[in-house]
Amino acid sequence: MFEKKVYYSEFLSPLKDFQREKQPIEYRRDSLTGIECRINLKRSERVKQGEKSSSYPELIAKSKEKCFFCQERIKETTPRFPPEISSDDRITYGDTYVFPNLFPFAQHHAVATVTREHFKEIDKFTTTEIIDMIKASLTYFRQVNKYDRKAKYPSFNWNHLPPSGASIVHPHVQLLVDNRPSYLTNLFLEVSKNFWKKKRRNYWEELIKHEKDSERFIAQIGSISWFTSFAPIGNNEVNAVFQDRGCISDLTDDEITSFVEGLQKILKGYYKMGVRSFNLTSYSSAIGEREKNFWLSVKIISRPTPQTYYTSDAGFMEILHRVRIVETIPETVAKHLRREF
Ligand SMILES: [Zn+2]
Repeated sequence: MFEKKVYYSEFLSPLKDFQREKQPIEYRRDSLTGIECRINLKRSERVKQGEKSSSYPELIAKSKEKCFFCQERIKETTPRFPPEISSDDRITYGDTYVFPNLFPFAQHHAVATVTREHFKEIDKFTTTEIIDMIKASLTYFRQVNKYDRKAKYPSFNWNHLPPSGASIVHPHVQLLVDNRPSYLTNLFLEVSKNFWKKKRRNYWEELIKHEKDSERFIAQIGSISWFTSFAPIGNNEVNAVFQDRGCISDLTDDEITSFVEGLQKILKGYYKMGVRSFNLTSYSSAIGEREKNFWLSVKIISRPTPQTYYTSDAGFMEILHRVRIVETIPETVAKHLRREF
């Protein structure tokens, strides 16, 4: 009745003199609803920098003292890839380092740093920093899939600062490649397929056509459309939809450049609106599979501002009912963000 699969994430651990470490991760799925969870007991041991500080400035200063992701420590304190994933200990591109997550929740789960600097406000990331970080991330996706063909669903994720769930302050993204899409990615893939079956039209193309004339549309840069969601699952939610592109690992240099231009403007607009912490994620089709009915999208939501005590924006409705209570009007958010474009 119940489905449980155990996968092992393997990497060379800095805590064991870079000997190979295998951490079991349980993937459990509810048979009635398909809702899934993942369990890695080791994660309870990870350092959460947010819990040791009492104010926003103190959080930045204190977390810098022994930061694992700062240049002076990164090579000693972060795991190395086993040789089957990368012939180099870590994948590098510009200032970005990609390395295995020390406390993974996917069989293939890496971390990529965004900048050399320990802390940046969200409107200060440079074009080069974000482009290099994305290129390094895509290299990781492709290398994992080359080694493990079953691992084909890549996801690109950015938690910024503790209110968003980030345990480390130093800006970084998390890269997962799974055998199966996440619950929500799977839902998007399935409903897109069904839409095509019923109407013989691409849902995403229809969506963009519809939203272009709406108050929620922000801008188009290259082949990427930016707009707020009609029924958001987070505050200040913004989507980027990539025309005729299904899989994130296939992004061209032009698409990356256009995306980064848009993202920087959104983050600038967010900053002016008082946002300091956010989550960003991608919904991608599988590596090497042509999905004509599905377009890649990225979602960004704001999270509470870091401070000594803050009210979480996820309560019983969000966590136990999976219903989001939103505090912002999507049409107003779009109006604010359009000013940056
Ligand atoms: Zn740092």
